[in-house]
Amino acid sequence: MTARVLVVDDILANVRLLEAKLTAEYFEVITAMNGLDALEAIARNKPDLILLDVMMPGLDGIEVCKRIKANPATQHIPVVMVTALDQPEDRVSGLNAGADDFLTKPVNDISLFCRIKSLVRLKMLTDELRIRAETGDSIHALVRPQAQISTANGRVLLVDTRETSVERIKFALASQHEVTAVVDPNTAVEIAASAALPYELIVVSLEQERFDGLRLCSQLRSFETTRQTPILILVEPDDQTRLLRALDMGVNDYLLRPVDRQELLARVNTQVKRWRYTEQLRHSVKASIELAVTDHLTGLYNRRYLETHLTSLIDHFVNRGKSLAVLALDVDFFKPINDTYGHDAGDKVLQELASRIRENTRTIDLCCRTGGEEFVLVLPSTNMAAAHLIAERLRKAIAFKTFTAGPATGIPVTISIGLATLDNASDTMDTLLKRADSALYAAKREGRNRVVQAAA
Ligand code: GH3
Ligand code: MG
Ligand code: MG
Repeated sequence: MTARVLVVDDILANVRLLEAKLTAEYFEVITAMNGLDALEAIARNKPDLILLDVMMPGLDGIEVCKRIKANPATQHIPVVMVTALDQPEDRVSGLNAGADDFLTKPVNDISLFCRIKSLVRLKMLTDELRIRAETGDSIHALVRPQAQISTANGRVLLVDTRETSVERIKFALASQHEVTAVVDPNTAVEIAASAALPYELIVVSLEQERFDGLRLCSQLRSFETTRQTPILILVEPDDQTRLLRALDMGVNDYLLRPVDRQELLARVNTQVKRWRYTEQLRHSVKASIELAVTDHLTGLYNRRYLETHLTSLIDHFVNRGKSLAVLALDVDFFKPINDTYGHDAGDKVLQELASRIRENTRTIDLCCRTGGEEFVLVLPSTNMAAAHLIAERLRKAIAFKTFTAGPATGIPVTISIGLATLDNASDTMDTLLKRADSALYAAKREGRNRVVQAAA
């Protein structure tokens, strides 16, 4: 993994030292020696990570960090504050300013790289999601995540076998977060995985009585529901080896014991915020994908989606020697409905039709609006006899109950349906759709409001 790191420090020797260490590990390094230059370098070079000295004349590190985190264009760039060992309050104000982590001088090599790598890894993921969510067209703009994210009321799961430690941590977090404490680590994964609302952070004490906290972390990382959940571990200061193992495993952050209350709170806030930010991005990506494959009027899938999925569905069902049915469906004399009641009423009829289609199909059925008043339904594991029953049920659900569209009521609507099933291994999407279409035309020719099966 390589990344572009900006090193900011007002003392040249410090800049050179970090630059040498990072370059040796193949990071691309850029440098700045004061706050203003740093902001300029960020705008110009778009670094993947910033190592920021706190104490600098003029614009200090805290202020620079605040500006980075207040700017929507840069707020996603991880900032690591570099603080003096004898200034613990700097860490807290740094984290409160939005810093993602801090390192103390003199900087310890192994924790420097572990920290950088874990933050860069996370940034790569969020970049990927951000790019997808921000692809500048109007559809995506609708689902772009908000810039301001609250850290209040985080759902935190705490796993610690020691009662006194649990009490202290709960006390530190209670004013801002909802903490669930688990004293039996064996049930922790289960509780985390089955929570009605997912936890936003799991705090794990690495030092557990008769239990290995590392094992718990690795289990949390391997379960689908908790794989992405941030983990913050509490470590004894002499337990460097296991701390590094944990960071390698993908644990997001750590805190050395004895736990400083302010620092704990600030770190928990940072993790909760990060989690909410990535959740928003994931949600945006999902929403924009849904928009791209969905027909806006009816909410059914569109033709593009049908075409991408029908081919793979056919492969899948041919391989398993199972049946698959396709229904081509067209509204009868829809043009006169538009002419009589108006185009808006016509739209409402299509929406009502789509909801009757949904009511009469299963969730695994693929329901698409492929054109104006034309629909295609794909029914997996359905043979011709079953498809015919479903098509008839659908035809009746439309024909036997008139439609209402705004002020217009009692609108009679009928549909014609052509049916085809996957009959042989040489079937393709085109041949299958074509057979269903021919059957549909036959249904139209034979008088409409009917279901016709394609010839085998
Ligand atoms: P047939 O029984 O032969 O299918 O007759 P039809 O009138 O339904 O067929 P035709 O293809 O001639 O007309 C389809 C009409 O559907 C014409 C078009 O204006 C209308 N239409 C297409 N898309 C929409 C839409 O999104 N909303 C509305 N309200 N009407 C639409
Ligand atoms: Mg029609
Ligand atoms: Mg038509």
